Amino acid sequence: MTIDFPKRFLVETWGCQMNELDSQRLSSQLMQEGILPTSDPQQADLILLNSCSVREKAAHKAYSRLGEYRLLKEKRPGLLLGFCGCVAQQEGDQALKRVPDLDFVIGPARVGELRQILRQRLVGKRVVATGFPDAAERNYDMDTLSREGTHKGMVTIIEGCNKKCTFCIVPSTRGPEQNRPLDDILSEVRHLLDFGFREIELLGQTVNHWRDPATSADFAVLLDRVASLDGLDRLRFVTSYPRDFTQEMVDQFARHSNICPYLHLPVQSGSDRVLKMMGRGYATELYFDLIERLRKSRPGIALSTDIIVGFPGETEQDFQLTLDLLSRVRFASVYAFKYSPRPGTAALRLNQPEVPLEDADRRLQTLFSLQREIQTKINQALVGEVFEVLVTSLGKSAGTLTGRTPCHRVIHFEHDTATSYIGSLIDVKVERAYPHSLIGSTVLPGWPEQIDRSRSSLPIVS
Ligand code: SF4
Repeated sequence: MTIDFPKRFLVETWGCQMNELDSQRLSSQLMQEGILPTSDPQQADLILLNSCSVREKAAHKAYSRLGEYRLLKEKRPGLLLGFCGCVAQQEGDQALKRVPDLDFVIGPARVGELRQILRQRLVGKRVVATGFPDAAERNYDMDTLSREGTHKGMVTIIEGCNKKCTFCIVPSTRGPEQNRPLDDILSEVRHLLDFGFREIELLGQTVNHWRDPATSADFAVLLDRVASLDGLDRLRFVTSYPRDFTQEMVDQFARHSNICPYLHLPVQSGSDRVLKMMGRGYATELYFDLIERLRKSRPGIALSTDIIVGFPGETEQDFQLTLDLLSRVRFASVYAFKYSPRPGTAALRLNQPEVPLEDADRRLQTLFSLQREIQTKINQALVGEVFEVLVTSLGKSAGTLTGRTPCHRVIHFEHDTATSYIGSLIDVKVERAYPHSLIGSTVLPGWPEQIDRSRSSLPIVS
């Protein structure tokens, strides 16, 4: 069967920012081949499913989605179907066996090879590109990346992970750490700033474990160098590992006002016993001390975290310690999940009793309700504050815009809704607060007070 060169492609993306960026890299390669994007599967002659393996039953969900796309392929045999992302990495050859009309499989570390893989498919080969080439062999494609949006540019600085958290599948889907050289990172950020991007987000599974391969300069040096670049309004980074956060990194928050007063710092549990079983390599004392130093360096910094409830062996007492941690730290937001066993992870070999599903469900709901109270109080204390808001989209209601405060809170406000405002910075006063968002109004011309741009929010209220 001859396969026609595709004209339109669609990429469906699941999961984290790393996957979002990978999808942008996949798209850019296709666009360089003259293939245009579409959001309509009926129009696409090439569909890529960029999968995520973090949630439960990931493989099952991915195969079921591929099954839906196969139905399209039955009607249009020329349609090409590619399986990408972390589930594709895990499944490898198996995916081609299970889905006989799947055209190719690409793991996260091989995203840069899409064009070659597509060419091979056009001459009849079904390629499985998984595994982890060395950094020197990886094609980052960053200069030609098809960025989504106009204001936030994501920049990968480190791929993979060398940690061994017992619940996590990432080290086996994204491989060991590979650091990008400092000069490559700086030139990519400069390129984005030249194109008018105002916010840069540095990405990595353990972003603060980055080291320059040539000089061993660490993440504090990188932050300092990037934040010093002209024209950068906002610098963020995700995801930080608590144990790797040095004082020099903490100090950068005080040194550079364009480093956003927001940090995602996954703690996972408030119980040292559970943290040990999770293989996290730190105890809560280290975490509390780090939070204190961060708040000293940047008063009012907004913090978010990840929590797993119902980890095997977690008792009611352990769970209570997690609630205590939430009450003590007072996070601006919390991403909490029930533990879900991932194939091949060490947690399965811990010989700890499983937490019954109904207990895990109850704990999760208890945690959400406590966090909702905390967030409501924190956000209500922001009413009356004025923030410099980066406009990210038109609002859902007519006549409104939506944006992010420096501390990464979502804020909706009435405004002239010309699309040209997207990507602009506008001063907005908070009028009302909800647990997950703020409602504001633009500050009228002539607003006399000076806005303190180094502050993200009021000090945390108790
Ligand atoms: S640090 Fe732990 S949780 Fe994060 S990606 Fe690495 S192994 Fe997974």
